[in-house]
Amino acid sequence: MARVTGKAQAAIVARMVQDWIIPHGHGLYLPGIDTWVDPSRPQSRAIITHGHADHARAGHAHVLATPETLAIMQQRFGPQAGGQALAYGERLALGDGITAMLLPAGHVLGSAQIVLEKAGTRLIISGDYKRRPDPTCTPFEPLACDIFITEATFGLPVFHHPGTASEIAKLLAALAANPDRCIAVGAYALGKAQRVIAELRRARYDAPIYLHGAMTALCALYEAHGVALGDLRPVGTLKGDALKGQIIIAPPSALRDVWSRRLPDPITAMASGWMRVRQRAVQSGIELPLVISDHADWDELTATITELNPAEVWVTHGREEALIHWCGLHQRRARALDMVGRDEEGD
Ligand SMILES: [Zn+2]
Ligand SMILES: [Zn+2]
Repeated sequence: MARVTGKAQAAIVARMVQDWIIPHGHGLYLPGIDTWVDPSRPQSRAIITHGHADHARAGHAHVLATPETLAIMQQRFGPQAGGQALAYGERLALGDGITAMLLPAGHVLGSAQIVLEKAGTRLIISGDYKRRPDPTCTPFEPLACDIFITEATFGLPVFHHPGTASEIAKLLAALAANPDRCIAVGAYALGKAQRVIAELRRARYDAPIYLHGAMTALCALYEAHGVALGDLRPVGTLKGDALKGQIIIAPPSALRDVWSRRLPDPITAMASGWMRVRQRAVQSGIELPLVISDHADWDELTATITELNPAEVWVTHGREEALIHWCGLHQRRARALDMVGRDEEGD
């Protein structure tokens, strides 16, 4: 079927699609096959975009996801009895005339866009995504579609993420300038921690990197999937002064609790897209903000929509209004889905 473009035709596509996919506050629902995408409550059948806790939840009877996402879910929730792996680029008939394919989303290891096709209409659910190179996961793969369902975590024109290399250079400069201190980098355990480590290695930082206990299992999982992270050691193997001049990676919450008192005069750093907002860094007592995000910034969100050229855009979560307004200015229909339970702090 010919690709549908233009505002008038978009209305037709939206009507066509809505009888096989229903946006719901708790996820996107495919009624013909009783299947949900990233449901926020346990369901009998779920397709999962990636392993972050606000998308992948425990308790579904059957899960379809990439092999990496299944491995992450298994590590977090225990054996996934009904797990079915689908590799990037493979097609699977789901029933009711619907075909599914997973494409890389460039967000974290195993993260996928879910491509659903029925009767010549193609719909893509991005999950969370970014367009920057990330040495720990496969880059986002663009594919034209009729309806693009996107996140908008950083969906405001003020959000522009700087280059990752310059933020890593800031971290290494602070380390060199403060030999009597250590640097404790707050980073989420799935994705951000491994990305910071891999970027440090890329910048030729070959010394051991010390891990908070909450990081070890996921770092091992990344390494088992071919992502080399170099010499990683539990932070408990060093005491007091021996930690001076070292980099420690810890969950953001650990920087605020008693755990951090064991560190000798730490410089507290945080790797997050939110560090772009100086106020946030100051309020959370972060001395060294590192603007490293696993989400698309404004330019990447709008460039992706232009590139995929959908007739219609649905926005799952984040700062929807500006993006919806932008779509209108660029002759695309757009709507907010107001999904519940998406944790947009987790970047
Ligand atoms: Zn995510
Ligand atoms: Zn998310």
